[in-house]
Amino acid sequence: MSRARRHTVPLLVLAALAQGGSAAAVDDAARAREVRFQAIYRELVETDTSLSNGSCTLAAQRMAARLLEAGYAKADVRVVVPPGFPLQGNLVARIPGTDAKRPAILLLAHLDVVEAKAADWKRDPFKLMEEGGYIHARGAVDDKAMAASFVDAFIRYREEAFRPARTLKLALTCGEETDSVFNGVQYLLANEPDALAAGFAVNEGGSGRLDGHGRPVSFGVQVGEKIYQDFTLAATSPGGHSARPTDDNAIGRLAAAVVRIDGYRFPVNMTAATQAFFRRSATQYDGQTARDLAAIGSATADAFAFARVAAADPLWNAFLRTTCIATLISGGHAENAQPQHAEANVNCRIMPGESVEAVRSRLVEVVADPKIDITLADAPGPQPAAPPLDARIMQPVEAIVADMWPGVPVIPSLSSGATDGRFLNAAGIPTYGISGVFRDPDGNGVHGLDERIRVTSLHDARVFLYRLVKAYAGE
Ligand SMILES: [Zn+2]
Repeated sequence: MSRARRHTVPLLVLAALAQGGSAAAVDDAARAREVRFQAIYRELVETDTSLSNGSCTLAAQRMAARLLEAGYAKADVRVVVPPGFPLQGNLVARIPGTDAKRPAILLLAHLDVVEAKAADWKRDPFKLMEEGGYIHARGAVDDKAMAASFVDAFIRYREEAFRPARTLKLALTCGEETDSVFNGVQYLLANEPDALAAGFAVNEGGSGRLDGHGRPVSFGVQVGEKIYQDFTLAATSPGGHSARPTDDNAIGRLAAAVVRIDGYRFPVNMTAATQAFFRRSATQYDGQTARDLAAIGSATADAFAFARVAAADPLWNAFLRTTCIATLISGGHAENAQPQHAEANVNCRIMPGESVEAVRSRLVEVVADPKIDITLADAPGPQPAAPPLDARIMQPVEAIVADMWPGVPVIPSLSSGATDGRFLNAAGIPTYGISGVFRDPDGNGVHGLDERIRVTSLHDARVFLYRLVKAYAGE
């Protein structure tokens, strides 16, 4: 079925019809659920949760009220406001499982959003506006589609008196986008670890890809994240009059070091997920590219195949290896003086499983100049290995994707940006990015101007997550 046609007949209705309900009654029930979900979603995106002007606490309280209204016990729905951070509240909730021996499942989404300067937007970023098949609002995708879907799923499970075998834990946290100020996941791990403790977690970070016409191309599952680390390269020289140059020039040394790093490729080091990414992506290409991707995906590629694939797409290169690039440079103090100091920032995105210190040592070898000092620009964050590419995680995704979007491949990926998953992975909770949201090739304005989501993508994601969590939880 084409997506255009599906838009006019909500999937939920079709599913219910297939279960033998009367068309009119089923239609009404499905519509009522859509209307209710939209109210939850609207309330969430219209609650400003930006750091400068908003309140996660208010958003958490509003979502808590929805769950309490649905009949959850007060003990199972809590708003955790950290001392000293009155606006950085977090919602934690749970549905106790019937099988205490099986580990819980954590559903994580963040309440806070990236700043949005209203004057620069076409519309009010904190007013939900539906237009041309899209909903426009800050947080429309990141991450309020997931947060509202989880709240909606919890309400539906309650209505259905669903008794999951595994305990379901919900955490809607604050400070994902501005974790230098406060981070809800770090706070809960340190102060309320039981609110998050789980066998695995479902988080943002993975999304589906649409072509330019809104047709789904692939469904991404994020399995692990690259580690972000900045290094400072510093060169110092004695200086002196520029009319009598010496051989020891800090700028010259630093420039040579940067050129060496620029020309260096870290060795190929794939995770199970990136290898599967290449294997499954191969079917979407033809000719030499398809053969190269398949060879990399089956560990039979030669150096030429790796070089062709790395050169063809910077993202593919980023999935193959750790990357480092000089991003800032400064030096010297006067036009007519030999420089005494020059320094550069080198930004590295490190493959999970490699250590920050190992990358620093490699940079020292590559630069091969003992007079260049290479240090960490800031204290390293957690350095977790990638979570396993686990069939128990992937198979339910594949089954539901095959049902909702027949023929669309499920493709594991690695995030080159960072989410709260890095804290959970480091705490021993394997975390998978599965949003169910399909995004347009332009990225939907996430973190930028005029953030938007297709109405069909939003509702499909809600249905997908409702079904997926149920499948994981067991009955
Ligand atoms: Zn996010």
